Amino acid sequence: MGSKGINSKIGVLGGGQLGKMLAQAAADWNLDISVLDPTPQAPANCCAKQVHGDFNNYDNVLAFGQQQDIITIEIEHVNLEALKELKRLGKEVYPDPSSLGLIQDKGLQKLFYREHQLPTSEFIIVDNAVHIHQLIEQNIIAFPFVQKLRRAGYDGRGVQIIHEESELDKLFNEPSVIEQKVAIHKEIAVLAARNISGEIMIYDPVEMLFHPTANLLLYQECPCTLNGDQSEQVKNLAHTLIEKMNIVGLLAVELFLDKKGNILINEVAPRPHNSGHHTIEACPTSQFQQHLRCILDFPLGPALTNVHSILLNLLGEPGYQGEAIYEGIEECLALDGVYIHLYGKKETKPMRKMGHITIVGKDPVYVKKIATSVSEKIKVIAHL
Ligand code: ADP
Repeated sequence: MGSKGINSKIGVLGGGQLGKMLAQAAADWNLDISVLDPTPQAPANCCAKQVHGDFNNYDNVLAFGQQQDIITIEIEHVNLEALKELKRLGKEVYPDPSSLGLIQDKGLQKLFYREHQLPTSEFIIVDNAVHIHQLIEQNIIAFPFVQKLRRAGYDGRGVQIIHEESELDKLFNEPSVIEQKVAIHKEIAVLAARNISGEIMIYDPVEMLFHPTANLLLYQECPCTLNGDQSEQVKNLAHTLIEKMNIVGLLAVELFLDKKGNILINEVAPRPHNSGHHTIEACPTSQFQQHLRCILDFPLGPALTNVHSILLNLLGEPGYQGEAIYEGIEECLALDGVYIHLYGKKETKPMRKMGHITIVGKDPVYVKKIATSVSEKIKVIAHL
């Protein structure tokens, strides 16, 4: 395991912005890194070798993986059978295909939490819309509830809240998880990292604020305003999960703090995560370098933040579609502690994630003030 160390050939399934930032971190150690992505000139293309192909296609993943020593992911919806075969052929695959299989299915994830007595919202697994109607008639499912497709949900697609009977015609007619709607006070995320030898490092929890309808992260803050006990509880859960799910690499854990003060696990992602972008500037070891340390079985780097940070998503301005034009960059760069990351997506469209901005500083009030100013100044538009 990890025998080639720094000389390993690393293959990443997915070459989006997460793959790009992973490749940027890999460049610090001059690692040999390739990404598999179908998009021409995917974001990671600037800093990694891109192989064009579909990370959901068995043959494409197998052929790509056979050229690598270590295979990892930047997106979890990838072809699992090919990863199992690569492991059988002696390749190192992180996270392990069995852990990834559990996480790819939101139903299995929820059953895992229940089996291990980990706090999560009440749920029931259903086959289709008819099944949901039957359970409503039997008073087993009550309004309001959340329906989540078991597979291939991403960034809010495949998740919907059903408030009342009149909305039942929206139901997805597919295998799903039905969850009790949580009265959310705060949405929290925490990153855990674990290397092959089992060393674990936990980052500070962050608070996330989402766009009310598009379900995209607008704003994130670290450290967040949890009290000491809640923060400890969140970190302990992340520690337990990364160990019990047997993850090598990063595990991003999304949680809810409900209005009664309960901490509930929402879902996990076994890869670098958008909730950890601030770690590039705000933590001694970025999530991307930490992921590389994990899969190369290097000692993990310190994680805890010693500054205040706010992360803003840079989303395509509503009303504009076409070649992206960035307004306000220079003005924002003139402000202290502002770090702009553009993902290199050629085309903008309304609410498309085009980049992110991290604002760091010692004083939370200053950081908030600058973040407000940045969000007013910077815009992604296109010629109309
Ligand atoms: P995705 O995989 O698309 O990110 P999530 O499970 O994170 O899906 O759900 C998306 C959003 O929907 C969450 O960030 C949260 O705001 C809301 N949500 C999810 N589950 C619940 C729930 N049980 N109760 C209330 N809101 C929820």
